Amino acid sequence: MTDTQTNAFEALGLNNGLLSALKAAGYEKPTPIQSKAIPHVMKGADLLGIAQTGTGKTAAFALPILHRLAENRVKPMPRTTRALILSPTRELATQIADSFKVYGQHLGFRVAVVFGGVKYGAQERALQQGLDVLVAAPGRLLDHIQQKNIDLSSTEIFVLDEADQMLDLGFIKPIRQIVSRLPARRQNLFFSATMPGEIGKLAGDLLKDPVKVQVTPQSTTVERIKQQVIWVEAGRKRALLTELFSDPAYTRCLVFTKTKHGADKVAAYLEAGGVEAGAIHGNKSQPQRERALEAFKNGKLRVLVATDIA
Ligand code: AMP
Repeated sequence: MTDTQTNAFEALGLNNGLLSALKAAGYEKPTPIQSKAIPHVMKGADLLGIAQTGTGKTAAFALPILHRLAENRVKPMPRTTRALILSPTRELATQIADSFKVYGQHLGFRVAVVFGGVKYGAQERALQQGLDVLVAAPGRLLDHIQQKNIDLSSTEIFVLDEADQMLDLGFIKPIRQIVSRLPARRQNLFFSATMPGEIGKLAGDLLKDPVKVQVTPQSTTVERIKQQVIWVEAGRKRALLTELFSDPAYTRCLVFTKTKHGADKVAAYLEAGGVEAGAIHGNKSQPQRERALEAFKNGKLRVLVATDIA
Protein backbone atom coordinates (compact mmCIF):
# COMPACT_ATOMS: atom_id res chain seq x y z
CA MET A 1 0.00 0.00 0.00
CA THR A 2 1.43 3.34 -0.98
CA ASP A 3 -0.21 6.71 -0.98
CA THR A 4 0.19 6.89 -4.75
CA GLN A 5 -2.23 4.01 -5.10
CA THR A 6 -5.47 5.36 -6.48
CA ASN A 7 -8.94 4.13 -5.91
CA ALA A 8 -9.88 2.30 -9.10
CA PHE A 9 -13.15 4.25 -9.39
CA GLU A 10 -11.10 7.46 -9.35
CA ALA A 11 -8.97 6.10 -12.16
CA LEU A 12 -12.12 5.84 -14.26
CA GLY A 13 -12.44 9.61 -13.93
CA LEU A 14 -15.85 9.64 -12.27
CA ASN A 15 -17.24 12.85 -10.81
CA ASN A 16 -16.20 13.62 -7.19
CA GLY A 17 -19.76 13.51 -5.87
CA LEU A 18 -20.08 9.97 -7.22
CA LEU A 19 -16.71 8.97 -5.76
CA SER A 20 -17.70 10.05 -2.26
CA ALA A 21 -21.04 8.24 -2.52
CA LEU A 22 -19.20 5.08 -3.59
CA LYS A 23 -16.78 5.43 -0.72
CA ALA A 24 -19.68 5.82 1.74
CA ALA A 25 -21.32 2.73 0.20
CA GLY A 26 -18.09 0.79 0.80
CA TYR A 27 -17.37 0.02 -2.85
CA GLU A 28 -13.61 -0.40 -3.16
CA LYS A 29 -13.10 -1.38 -6.75
CA PRO A 30 -15.23 -1.76 -9.88
CA THR A 31 -16.62 -5.18 -10.76
CA PRO A 32 -15.56 -6.55 -14.18
CA ILE A 33 -18.63 -5.23 -16.00
CA GLN A 34 -18.13 -1.84 -14.38
CA SER A 35 -14.50 -1.48 -15.41
CA LYS A 36 -15.33 -2.67 -18.92
CA ALA A 37 -18.49 -0.60 -19.48
CA ILE A 38 -18.05 2.66 -17.56
CA PRO A 39 -15.29 4.28 -19.71
CA HIS A 40 -17.29 3.74 -22.92
CA VAL A 41 -20.63 4.84 -21.50
CA MET A 42 -18.96 7.95 -20.01
CA LYS A 43 -17.87 8.88 -23.53
CA GLY A 44 -21.40 8.50 -24.89
CA ALA A 45 -21.06 5.15 -26.69
CA ASP A 46 -23.95 2.71 -27.11
CA LEU A 47 -23.49 -0.48 -25.11
CA LEU A 48 -24.61 -4.08 -25.38
CA GLY A 49 -24.10 -5.71 -21.98
CA ILE A 50 -24.55 -9.44 -21.58
CA ALA A 51 -24.77 -9.80 -17.84
CA GLN A 52 -26.98 -11.07 -15.06
CA THR A 53 -28.14 -9.44 -11.88
CA GLY A 54 -25.44 -9.78 -9.24
CA THR A 55 -22.61 -8.71 -11.52
CA GLY A 56 -22.89 -5.04 -10.53
CA LYS A 57 -24.54 -4.09 -13.81
CA THR A 58 -26.82 -1.46 -12.25
CA ALA A 59 -23.83 0.65 -11.19
CA ALA A 60 -22.21 -0.12 -14.56
CA PHE A 61 -24.89 2.04 -16.20
CA ALA A 62 -26.03 4.27 -13.31
CA LEU A 63 -22.58 5.72 -12.54
CA PRO A 64 -21.64 6.84 -16.07
CA ILE A 65 -25.19 8.11 -16.68
CA LEU A 66 -25.05 10.26 -13.54
CA HIS A 67 -21.56 11.40 -14.54
CA ARG A 68 -22.78 12.52 -17.97
CA LEU A 69 -25.88 14.25 -16.60
CA ALA A 70 -23.67 16.15 -14.13
CA GLU A 71 -21.18 17.15 -16.84
CA ASN A 72 -23.91 18.88 -18.77
CA ARG A 73 -26.30 20.06 -16.11
CA VAL A 74 -29.60 21.46 -17.37
CA LYS A 75 -32.86 21.83 -15.51
CA PRO A 76 -35.25 19.20 -16.89
CA MET A 77 -38.40 20.69 -18.45
CA PRO A 78 -41.74 19.71 -16.89
CA ARG A 79 -43.02 16.30 -18.08
CA THR A 80 -39.66 15.24 -19.52
CA THR A 81 -36.81 13.05 -18.38
CA ARG A 82 -33.13 13.27 -19.37
CA ALA A 83 -32.47 9.54 -18.81
CA LEU A 84 -35.01 6.72 -19.11
CA ILE A 85 -34.44 3.22 -17.75
CA LEU A 86 -36.94 0.50 -18.61
CA SER A 87 -37.13 -2.40 -16.20
CA PRO A 88 -39.48 -5.41 -16.35
CA THR A 89 -40.81 -5.52 -12.79
CA ARG A 90 -41.76 -3.24 -9.97
CA GLU A 91 -39.10 -4.75 -7.68
CA LEU A 92 -36.27 -4.26 -10.16
CA ALA A 93 -37.42 -0.77 -11.09
CA THR A 94 -37.48 0.22 -7.43
CA GLN A 95 -34.01 -1.25 -6.83
CA ILE A 96 -32.59 0.60 -9.82
CA ALA A 97 -34.13 3.91 -8.74
CA ASP A 98 -32.75 3.37 -5.22
CA SER A 99 -29.29 2.78 -6.68
CA PHE A 100 -29.50 6.05 -8.66
CA LYS A 101 -30.51 7.85 -5.46
CA VAL A 102 -27.64 6.34 -3.44
CA TYR A 103 -24.93 6.99 -6.06
CA GLY A 104 -26.34 10.42 -6.94
CA GLN A 105 -26.92 11.56 -3.34
CA HIS A 106 -24.51 14.53 -3.68
CA LEU A 107 -25.65 15.59 -7.14
CA GLY A 108 -29.16 16.88 -6.43
CA PHE A 109 -30.89 15.14 -9.32
CA ARG A 110 -34.57 14.34 -9.55
CA VAL A 111 -35.11 10.57 -9.76
CA ALA A 112 -38.52 8.88 -9.94
CA VAL A 113 -39.93 5.43 -10.56
CA VAL A 114 -43.25 4.44 -12.17
CA PHE A 115 -44.87 0.99 -12.34
CA GLY A 116 -48.36 -0.48 -12.45
CA GLY A 117 -50.58 -1.76 -9.67
CA VAL A 118 -50.57 1.53 -7.72
CA LYS A 119 -52.44 4.84 -8.08
CA TYR A 120 -51.45 7.42 -10.69
CA GLY A 121 -51.50 10.60 -8.59
CA ALA A 122 -48.04 10.58 -7.00
CA GLN A 123 -46.45 9.36 -10.26
CA GLU A 124 -48.17 12.14 -12.22
CA ARG A 125 -46.89 14.76 -9.80
CA ALA A 126 -43.32 13.41 -10.04
CA LEU A 127 -43.43 13.45 -13.86
CA GLN A 128 -44.98 16.94 -13.92
CA GLN A 129 -41.89 18.36 -12.17
CA GLY A 130 -39.50 17.11 -14.83
CA LEU A 131 -36.88 14.48 -14.09
CA ASP A 132 -33.21 13.78 -14.55
CA VAL A 133 -33.75 10.02 -14.23
CA LEU A 134 -36.95 8.03 -14.71
CA VAL A 135 -37.03 4.30 -14.04
CA ALA A 136 -40.17 2.71 -15.43
CA ALA A 137 -41.96 -0.55 -16.10
CA PRO A 138 -43.16 -0.51 -19.73
CA GLY A 139 -46.94 -0.90 -19.31
CA ARG A 140 -47.42 1.96 -16.87
CA LEU A 141 -45.01 4.21 -18.78
CA LEU A 142 -47.12 3.76 -21.92
CA ASP A 143 -50.22 4.77 -19.93
CA HIS A 144 -48.44 7.94 -18.81
CA ILE A 145 -47.33 8.67 -22.39
CA GLN A 146 -50.89 8.24 -23.65
CA GLN A 147 -52.18 10.54 -20.92
CA LYS A 148 -49.54 13.09 -21.89
CA ASN A 149 -47.99 13.00 -18.43
CA ILE A 150 -44.57 12.50 -20.02
CA ASP A 151 -42.98 13.44 -23.32
CA LEU A 152 -39.87 11.47 -24.28
CA SER A 153 -38.84 13.55 -27.29
CA SER A 154 -35.92 15.18 -25.44
CA THR A 155 -34.62 12.08 -23.63
CA GLU A 156 -30.83 11.87 -23.95
CA ILE A 157 -30.04 8.40 -22.60
CA PHE A 158 -32.15 5.23 -22.89
CA VAL A 159 -31.47 2.00 -20.98
CA LEU A 160 -33.25 -1.29 -21.58
CA ASP A 161 -32.54 -3.58 -18.66
CA GLU A 162 -33.22 -7.34 -18.46
CA ALA A 163 -34.29 -7.46 -22.10
CA ASP A 164 -34.76 -11.24 -22.12
CA GLN A 165 -37.10 -11.03 -19.16
CA MET A 166 -39.02 -8.29 -21.00
CA LEU A 167 -39.54 -10.78 -23.82
CA ASP A 168 -40.75 -13.46 -21.41
CA LEU A 169 -43.24 -11.02 -19.90
CA GLY A 170 -44.62 -9.99 -23.31
CA PHE A 171 -43.20 -6.46 -23.24
CA ILE A 172 -41.52 -6.32 -26.66
CA LYS A 173 -44.38 -4.47 -28.36
CA PRO A 174 -44.77 -1.87 -25.58
CA ILE A 175 -40.99 -1.35 -25.67
CA ARG A 176 -41.05 -0.70 -29.41
CA GLN A 177 -43.92 1.76 -28.90
CA ILE A 178 -41.93 3.57 -26.20
CA VAL A 179 -38.77 3.64 -28.33
CA SER A 180 -40.75 5.23 -31.18
CA ARG A 181 -41.32 8.24 -28.88
CA LEU A 182 -37.60 8.77 -28.24
CA PRO A 183 -35.55 11.19 -30.32
CA ALA A 184 -33.36 9.63 -33.03
CA ARG A 185 -30.23 11.14 -31.48
CA ARG A 186 -29.69 9.47 -28.11
CA GLN A 187 -27.39 7.10 -26.27
CA ASN A 188 -28.65 3.51 -25.89
CA LEU A 189 -27.63 0.91 -23.32
CA PHE A 190 -29.01 -2.59 -23.64
CA PHE A 191 -28.65 -5.34 -21.02
CA SER A 192 -29.70 -8.96 -21.20
CA ALA A 193 -28.53 -12.15 -19.52
CA THR A 194 -29.20 -14.19 -22.65
CA MET A 195 -29.58 -13.35 -26.32
CA PRO A 196 -32.49 -15.28 -27.85
CA GLY A 197 -33.16 -14.36 -31.50
CA GLU A 198 -35.85 -11.79 -30.89
CA ILE A 199 -33.69 -9.98 -28.32
CA GLY A 200 -30.73 -9.96 -30.70
CA LYS A 201 -32.99 -8.37 -33.31
CA LEU A 202 -34.26 -5.74 -30.88
CA ALA A 203 -30.67 -4.93 -29.88
CA GLY A 204 -29.72 -4.64 -33.55
CA ASP A 205 -32.59 -2.21 -34.17
CA LEU A 206 -31.86 -0.08 -31.11
CA LEU A 207 -28.09 0.15 -30.88
CA LYS A 208 -25.67 2.10 -33.04
CA ASP A 209 -22.14 0.60 -33.23
CA PRO A 210 -22.39 -0.67 -29.66
CA VAL A 211 -19.47 -1.62 -27.49
CA LYS A 212 -20.06 -5.23 -26.39
CA VAL A 213 -19.35 -6.29 -22.85
CA GLN A 214 -20.01 -9.80 -21.60
CA VAL A 215 -19.46 -11.08 -18.09
CA THR A 216 -20.32 -14.36 -16.46
CA PRO A 217 -21.48 -14.52 -12.86
CA GLN A 218 -18.67 -15.34 -10.42
CA SER A 219 -20.26 -18.54 -9.19
CA THR A 220 -23.19 -20.22 -10.81
CA THR A 221 -24.31 -22.47 -7.98
CA VAL A 222 -24.17 -22.16 -4.25
CA GLU A 223 -21.66 -24.65 -2.93
CA ARG A 224 -24.07 -26.25 -0.48
CA ILE A 225 -26.21 -27.50 -3.35
CA LYS A 226 -25.68 -31.13 -4.31
CA GLN A 227 -26.42 -31.61 -7.97
CA GLN A 228 -27.78 -34.74 -9.55
CA VAL A 229 -29.13 -35.59 -12.98
CA ILE A 230 -31.86 -38.19 -13.42
CA TRP A 231 -32.50 -39.46 -16.95
CA VAL A 232 -36.18 -40.13 -17.47
CA GLU A 233 -38.59 -40.43 -20.40
CA ALA A 234 -40.49 -37.18 -20.98
CA GLY A 235 -43.82 -38.84 -20.24
CA ARG A 236 -42.68 -39.97 -16.79
CA LYS A 237 -41.24 -36.66 -15.56
CA ARG A 238 -44.22 -35.59 -13.50
CA ALA A 239 -44.77 -39.01 -11.94
CA LEU A 240 -41.10 -38.99 -10.95
CA LEU A 241 -41.52 -35.60 -9.28
CA THR A 242 -44.43 -36.87 -7.18
CA GLU A 243 -42.32 -39.87 -6.24
CA LEU A 244 -39.37 -37.66 -5.23
CA PHE A 245 -41.61 -35.43 -3.14
CA SER A 246 -43.02 -38.43 -1.26
CA ASP A 247 -39.78 -38.11 0.72
CA PRO A 248 -40.65 -35.68 3.57
CA ALA A 249 -37.01 -34.55 3.68
CA TYR A 250 -37.79 -32.35 0.68
CA THR A 251 -39.37 -29.50 2.60
CA ARG A 252 -38.86 -26.57 0.27
CA CYS A 253 -38.31 -27.19 -3.42
CA LEU A 254 -38.13 -25.14 -6.57
CA VAL A 255 -39.09 -26.74 -9.86
CA PHE A 256 -38.26 -24.88 -13.06
CA THR A 257 -40.21 -25.30 -16.27
CA LYS A 258 -39.60 -23.88 -19.71
CA THR A 259 -43.05 -22.37 -20.21
CA LYS A 260 -45.65 -20.59 -18.08
CA HIS A 261 -48.27 -23.11 -19.15
CA GLY A 262 -45.92 -25.95 -18.16
CA ALA A 263 -45.49 -24.40 -14.70
CA ASP A 264 -49.26 -24.35 -14.17
CA LYS A 265 -49.62 -27.95 -15.34
CA VAL A 266 -46.84 -29.29 -13.12
CA ALA A 267 -48.19 -27.42 -10.07
CA ALA A 268 -51.71 -28.74 -10.68
CA TYR A 269 -50.37 -32.29 -11.13
CA LEU A 270 -48.43 -32.15 -7.86
CA GLU A 271 -51.43 -30.67 -6.01
CA ALA A 272 -53.59 -33.51 -7.32
CA GLY A 273 -51.01 -35.95 -5.96
CA GLY A 274 -51.20 -34.36 -2.49
CA VAL A 275 -48.04 -32.23 -2.67
CA GLU A 276 -48.69 -28.58 -1.73
CA ALA A 277 -47.47 -26.75 -4.82
CA GLY A 278 -47.93 -23.35 -6.42
CA ALA A 279 -46.84 -21.78 -9.69
CA ILE A 280 -45.12 -18.46 -10.22
CA HIS A 281 -44.51 -16.87 -13.61
CA GLY A 282 -45.01 -13.76 -15.71
CA ASN A 283 -48.73 -14.30 -16.34
CA LYS A 284 -49.48 -14.14 -12.62
CA SER A 285 -50.34 -10.75 -11.18
CA GLN A 286 -48.00 -9.06 -8.72
CA PRO A 287 -50.23 -9.90 -5.70
CA GLN A 288 -50.50 -13.54 -6.88
CA ARG A 289 -46.72 -13.80 -7.16
CA GLU A 290 -46.22 -12.22 -3.74
CA ARG A 291 -48.79 -14.56 -2.14
CA ALA A 292 -47.14 -17.64 -3.66
CA LEU A 293 -43.69 -16.52 -2.50
CA GLU A 294 -44.98 -15.78 0.99
CA ALA A 295 -46.67 -19.21 1.23
CA PHE A 296 -43.42 -20.83 0.05
CA LYS A 297 -41.35 -18.90 2.60
CA ASN A 298 -43.59 -19.74 5.55
CA GLY A 299 -43.81 -23.41 4.56
CA LYS A 300 -47.45 -23.56 3.42
CA LEU A 301 -46.22 -24.51 -0.03
CA ARG A 302 -43.61 -27.25 -0.27
CA VAL A 303 -42.99 -26.78 -3.95
CA LEU A 304 -42.84 -23.66 -6.06
CA VAL A 305 -42.98 -24.29 -9.79
CA ALA A 306 -41.52 -21.41 -11.73
CA THR A 307 -40.36 -20.21 -15.10
CA ASP A 308 -36.99 -18.49 -14.93
CA ILE A 309 -38.67 -15.29 -13.69
CA ALA A 310 -37.98 -16.72 -10.20
P1 AMP B 1 -26.48 -5.67 -9.47
O1 AMP B 1 -25.84 -6.72 -10.31
O2 AMP B 1 -26.47 -4.33 -10.14
O3 AMP B 1 -27.85 -6.07 -9.01
O4 AMP B 1 -25.58 -5.46 -8.15
C1 AMP B 1 -25.40 -6.49 -7.22
C2 AMP B 1 -24.96 -5.97 -5.85
O5 AMP B 1 -23.58 -5.62 -5.85
C3 AMP B 1 -25.70 -4.74 -5.35
O6 AMP B 1 -26.08 -4.99 -4.02
C4 AMP B 1 -24.67 -3.63 -5.40
O7 AMP B 1 -24.89 -2.70 -4.37
C5 AMP B 1 -23.37 -4.36 -5.21
N1 AMP B 1 -22.22 -3.73 -5.93
C6 AMP B 1 -22.24 -3.28 -7.21
N2 AMP B 1 -21.02 -2.83 -7.56
C7 AMP B 1 -20.21 -3.00 -6.48
C8 AMP B 1 -18.82 -2.72 -6.23
N3 AMP B 1 -18.04 -2.20 -7.16
N4 AMP B 1 -18.32 -3.02 -5.01
C9 AMP B 1 -19.13 -3.56 -4.07
N5 AMP B 1 -20.44 -3.86 -4.24
C10 AMP B 1 -20.98 -3.59 -5.44
